[in-house]
Amino acid sequence: MTKKAYIKTYGCQMNVYDSQRMSDVLASMGYSPSPGPEEADLVILNTCHIREKAAEKVYSEIGSLRRLKKTRAGAGLDTIVAIAGCVAQAEGEEMLRRAPAVDLVIGPQIYHRLPELVTRFVRDREPIVATEFPLEDKFDRLAQPAPHVTRARGVTAFLTVQEGCDKFCTFCVVPYTRGAEVSRPVAQIEAEARSLAEAGVREITLLGQNVNAYHGRGPDGEIWSLARLLARLAGLGGIERLRFTTSHPRDMSEDLIAAFRHNAKLMPYLHLPVQSGSDRILKAMNRRHRVRDYLRLIERIRSSRSDIAVSGDFIVGFPGETEEDFAATLELVRKVEYASAFSFKYSPRPGTPAAEMAFQIDDAIAAERLQVLQDLLHRQRHAFNAACLGRRMDILVEKPGRHDGQLIGRSPYLQAIHIDGRGHRIGDMVTVTIDGVGANSLSGHIRMAA
Ligand code: SAM
Ligand code: SF4
Repeated sequence: MTKKAYIKTYGCQMNVYDSQRMSDVLASMGYSPSPGPEEADLVILNTCHIREKAAEKVYSEIGSLRRLKKTRAGAGLDTIVAIAGCVAQAEGEEMLRRAPAVDLVIGPQIYHRLPELVTRFVRDREPIVATEFPLEDKFDRLAQPAPHVTRARGVTAFLTVQEGCDKFCTFCVVPYTRGAEVSRPVAQIEAEARSLAEAGVREITLLGQNVNAYHGRGPDGEIWSLARLLARLAGLGGIERLRFTTSHPRDMSEDLIAAFRHNAKLMPYLHLPVQSGSDRILKAMNRRHRVRDYLRLIERIRSSRSDIAVSGDFIVGFPGETEEDFAATLELVRKVEYASAFSFKYSPRPGTPAAEMAFQIDDAIAAERLQVLQDLLHRQRHAFNAACLGRRMDILVEKPGRHDGQLIGRSPYLQAIHIDGRGHRIGDMVTVTIDGVGANSLSGHIRMAA
């Protein structure tokens, strides 16, 4: 009987990508995917450490797994519990002390060693903590998925091109959990993108904690920028759309801004977190840009591609944030007019400089500010969507909808669009006219030939 593995993913898109790659590695060991933890011989929680709640959720999930492990043991079934991702990296040995049900603690840099670690655990039955940053290239050693596996994952795919961060924003754990900034070589990325295209993928989103800091070695021996990489991938047959995320304002180079105008496959959507609209707070956050720089940057990006949908991340309640600082954030939001955004209450992360700062903000005040900010961002998103009414746009059909004959696709601006898709298939590019705007999605009808 084949063994089964269940992977649960928390947090960002990079974790989604990592989970798929772990699943590919496990397939090469004979594990097939399990729909839930109950039937799984190996359970992996791929964790996120970015905010406190994310880490606490993991510990409560481990509690449930401990009970499941016991039940399965009663039926003579063995269950290996592995914790991967950023909580694993940050907690290390501590995780085994706090949660003895855990058998393996694996940091994000060594997923290629999963076969060896699982085999060792099965042999020795000794818990393993593996959180080092190895010298060998993880991506060189990770198994590639079979074409039918990629096909089953759909017509859009993530592809990590850069990992880690050297920016050290004072609130953020990423430089500690993901390590220093590393870019994959162009040829390796191109080979992966080609095999995605051959398996039917039409849209690729390039991922990195700081994706626009990409500086990978090209086939000519030179260091290539993200814009140059995007130009190369745009030439791949079958790939209709390219996106990238997440970018840092400091690394938004001229050639990348120009790519929004010149690279026809690059979609007009940019996630460009600013975090705060107050220079004082930006300085305390060590963001290394001012409000003025960010606004000027947005202007330059919009003059390269006027219809671009801008998205962002915000943190409210950073230590020392006054009402004036918060008002400045609202003012920046009003000036930029975001198409979408993510906003969070500041969460002190152990080991980061901000966690030690004076004037930590009361939770109730932070919650109130978050509500005000989210109301404004929600209104802006609605206004962006409403402005699409009557417009024609190309959508990539991604999946079936809930109703008979309905299909769901994405607009160039990453909006979900519902259509009556009879006669069309997943993976088709279809031109639609937008005829409805809902809270989270739009609807459209297929354009009749003129
Ligand atoms: N590298 C990206 C950047 O510089 O904008 C962001 C990466 S981080 C994984 C995603 C978002 O989580 C950040 O943009 C920030 O808004 C939020 N975040 C990070 N640390 C946080 C903290 N300690 N408390 C609240 N939100 C946090
Ligand atoms: Fe974290 Fe800042 Fe690096 Fe983004 S740029 S991953 S927020 S340290």
